[in-house]
Amino acid sequence: MAKFKKIKVPKEGQKITVVKNKLTVPDDPIIPFIEGDGIGPDIWRATKMVLDASVDKAYKGKKKIVWMEIFAGEKAVKVYGKNKWLPNETVDAIREYVVALKGPLTTPIGGGIRSLNVALRQKLDLFACVRPVKYYAGTPSPVKRPQDLDIVIFRENTEDVYAGIEFKARTKAANEIIEFINKGYKKNIREKSGIGIKPISKFGSMRLVKKAIEYAIENNRKSVTLVHKGNIMKFTEGAFKEWGYEVALKEFRDYIITEDELWDQVKGPDGVTPMTKPGAFKKLRGGKPAGNPGSRIVVKDRIADQMFQQLLLRPSEYDVVATPNLNGDYLSDAAAAQVGGLGMAPGSNISYFTGLFEATHGTAPKYAGMDKVNPGSLILSGVMMLRYLGWKEAADKIENSIKKTIRSKVVTYDLARQMKGAKKVKCSQFAKEIVKNMK
Ligand code: NAD
Repeated sequence: MAKFKKIKVPKEGQKITVVKNKLTVPDDPIIPFIEGDGIGPDIWRATKMVLDASVDKAYKGKKKIVWMEIFAGEKAVKVYGKNKWLPNETVDAIREYVVALKGPLTTPIGGGIRSLNVALRQKLDLFACVRPVKYYAGTPSPVKRPQDLDIVIFRENTEDVYAGIEFKARTKAANEIIEFINKGYKKNIREKSGIGIKPISKFGSMRLVKKAIEYAIENNRKSVTLVHKGNIMKFTEGAFKEWGYEVALKEFRDYIITEDELWDQVKGPDGVTPMTKPGAFKKLRGGKPAGNPGSRIVVKDRIADQMFQQLLLRPSEYDVVATPNLNGDYLSDAAAAQVGGLGMAPGSNISYFTGLFEATHGTAPKYAGMDKVNPGSLILSGVMMLRYLGWKEAADKIENSIKKTIRSKVVTYDLARQMKGAKKVKCSQFAKEIVKNMK
C-alpha cells in the first residue's frame, strides 16, 4: 500500500478492488474525492450531502461511502507547494482506490501543464470519456421534444488531435516536417504552416468501441453508433469506423447485428427495418445470445456532421454512441445543450476498471464561494458513480428526487431564469430540497 505524504487515509472503510476481472465493492468503500477549484467546494458539499443521504436511505446503515480527500488544482498548490498542481500521490490514490469523484479544476497558466484533466486522463489511461445525456422533465430546453434524446456518448480520450502533438508555425520542427512530407510524399503543405498530428490507432479504437458495446449489453440499450468523419479522413476517422465494426463482429457476433445486415435480413412492412425492441436484451445478460436478429444490438455508423442534425431531428434513433476524441468533445456539449445545458450534464473518465467521475463544466470563477450555481452535474456524476459501484437503489433515489425537485420548480439561478414561476434557491438549498424529496 502506498504511503501518502498529505492524504489522510480514513481509519474506517475498505478499498474497492478488482478480483478476477471484476470490480469488488465492499459495503464501506473508501472513495477519494477532489473538491475542485472555483465553484468546486460549493458543488462538492451539495453533492456529498445528496450522495450520503441516498446511500443512507437506500441501505439503512448497511452501506456507507467513506470519503477521502485528495488534492489537485489550486488546493494542491496550497497543500503541497508551488507548481504542484497534480501531485503524484493524487494519481496514485485514484489508481489504488479505483473509483474517485472530482470537481472542476482550473487550468494552470504556464507551469508546463496544458490541462489537469488531460494529464489525469493520460496518467491513468482513462481512455473512455462517458457522458450520458438525457432529459429531466421540466428542465428548460431549446428544443421541442427534449425527452426524445437519451444517449450515452463514449468518447475516445487518449488519441486524435488531442494527443498534443503540435508544432508551431515557422519552428524548426514544423519546417522539417513540412519538407519531409512535401518532398518525400509529393504533397503540398503550405510553407510556414502550423502542424498538428492526428493519430488514431487500431488498439485505441477497438478498446473504446468494445467498452461501448459492453455497456450497451449490460444496460439493455438498443444500438451503438460509430460517429466518424471517415469520408474525408479515411485513414484515421475512417479506420476508426472499420476497426469498430471489426471488434463488434469479432467479439460480440452473437449479440449484435450491423445496420446493413439488418436491412438485408429483417425488412419490416414497406421494406422499413423494424426498430429493435427495448427490453429484448435482458436475456443477453446471462450470456445467452438472442436468436432473433431483431432483438440484437444494432451497430451502425454516421458521419459526424450529419450526426449533429440527426440528434436534433431524429434523436430517438440513437442510443449508445462511440466516437473519436474531437467529435466526442463537440457532440457531448451540443447534446447536453439540447437537454438543458452543462449545469445538468454528468460525466466520467474510465479505464479498464478505474473510474473518475466528474462535473463536465468548468470552475465558473465568477461564482466561486457564492453558494449559487447548479450542483446537478456533479450530483449526477455521483449517480453514475453509484451505478458503477452497483448501488442502483441509491442512484435511483437521487434521480427520482431530482426529477421531482425540478418539476416542483425549486431550482438554482441558471434554471430559474428560464422557467416560468420558479423559486430560485442557492446551491446548498437545492441539495437540501433533493434530500427532502428523496423517498
Ligand atoms: P465554465 O464551465 O467554468 O463556465 C462557463 C459558464 O457556464 C459560467 O460563467 C457559468 O455561467 C456557467 N456554469 C458553469 N458551471 C455552472 C453550474 N454548475 N451552474 C450554473 N452555471 C454554470 O467554463 P470556463 O469559464 O470556460 O472555464 C473556467 C475555468 O474552468 C478554466 O480554468 C477552465 O480551464 C476550467 N475548466 C475545467 C473543466 C474541468 O475541470 N472539467 C472543464 C472546463 C473548463
